[in-house]
Amino acid sequence: MSASVTERPASTATNEVREGAFGHARSLACRECGTEVELGPSYACPECFGPLEVAYDFPALTREEIEAGPPNIWRYKALLPVPADIEQSPNTEPGFTRLLKADNLARELGLASVWVKDDSTNPTNSFKDRVVACALSAARELHATVFACPSTGNLANAVAAAGARAGMKTVVFIPSNLEKPKQVNSAVYTESLVAVDGTYDDVNKLAQEIAAEEEGWAFVNVNVRPFYAEGSKTLGYEIAEQLGWRLPDQVVIPVASGSQLTKVHKAFQELIKLGLVEEKPYRIFGAQATGCSPVSTAYKAGVDAIRPVKPDTIAKSLAIGNPADGIYVLDICRETGGAVEDVTDDEVRDGILLLARTEGIFTETAGGTTVACLRKLVETGQLDVEAETVVINTGMGLKTLDAVADRVGPAATIPPSYDAFAATGLSS
Ligand SMILES: *Cc1c(COP(=O)(O)O)cnc(C)c1O
Ligand SMILES: [Zn+2]
Repeated sequence: MSASVTERPASTATNEVREGAFGHARSLACRECGTEVELGPSYACPECFGPLEVAYDFPALTREEIEAGPPNIWRYKALLPVPADIEQSPNTEPGFTRLLKADNLARELGLASVWVKDDSTNPTNSFKDRVVACALSAARELHATVFACPSTGNLANAVAAAGARAGMKTVVFIPSNLEKPKQVNSAVYTESLVAVDGTYDDVNKLAQEIAAEEEGWAFVNVNVRPFYAEGSKTLGYEIAEQLGWRLPDQVVIPVASGSQLTKVHKAFQELIKLGLVEEKPYRIFGAQATGCSPVSTAYKAGVDAIRPVKPDTIAKSLAIGNPADGIYVLDICRETGGAVEDVTDDEVRDGILLLARTEGIFTETAGGTTVACLRKLVETGQLDVEAETVVINTGMGLKTLDAVADRVGPAATIPPSYDAFAATGLSS
């Protein structure tokens, strides 16, 4: 035993956070009262219980330095709470997805210029790979032993895959009524998919209890949520860079917890502050499904408080009845001159088909919601049809096939003969 006198006790060694573990992040700052606390697995302000957000001391940064980076979110690593050597740790390398000029969709809706930011091509086919990559880095640097989440579906897919690649134990929790493809898309990566009889909000509450009980568990959207949330900023950075280092006039973004929308706005503000884009006004619009529209309801009522709802919609990835960042979504949409809109499940299905048939992009119900809200914002005169607009497609249609399976199919089923084909009326 005398040989170990110079060694530190194991508990101290495992808790030690290395120098530069969180890059240029300085602290976690309260969004409500500004109190700053040490970087670590905390998410609520010790003074007022407000949400904590990563604060930075950013270095000077040029467009060229960013452009010289890899074709994934790590090209923006200087603006994220990750170490400088982040690329050396196995991760799913998400991001730098395509920004497509959607001229057919624009023509169909009577818009001058529309772009689709297509995040369905991320490693597990949703934008959640971005946030999970940042959460994984934090989990690693904080020496977490289990990588976990409560999820509406896509997050579980991303956590399970990223954990597998990182060689970390994963446990993911979902509502038991989730679409089959989203369950399978998690279960292939992990043996620990837990289906909970309840809504997402019930699953989230359970995760908070487990996080408080279990040592060493990193719940990506609970106790490491500040780090997780920063990953969504990369959507904003990419949109600006791919437009040739400028901001669009209008952006339409789906809202579940509201985190993504607030972070796209934060990203635009950071780019302006760093001098990477020119300052200009832009409007941010939120999109919800009517069957789970607590933020849109508050927006339309002109109130600041959000009343939680029990979700009932096919847009399950957006089905958060008590959105953590809902009040900040309201602030941002109002301040920028945007709005929050909602659409029925039938309009969601129409939105999926509209994007598929105009642009060849098969989106999931969340994207159907966003495209349908885009259409409704045009029809109700809330969106400027002459201004340049970006819509974010956050997920992939193959995960929610049932939403449109009854609306599309073979135009005819025929025997293999020319006459039978001719009889269908499809020959030219
Ligand atoms: C999670 C999710 C969203 C919304 O994310 P929030 O940041 O919670 O608002 C949007 N689209 C898809 C496909 C998602 O999985
Ligand atoms: Zn506070």
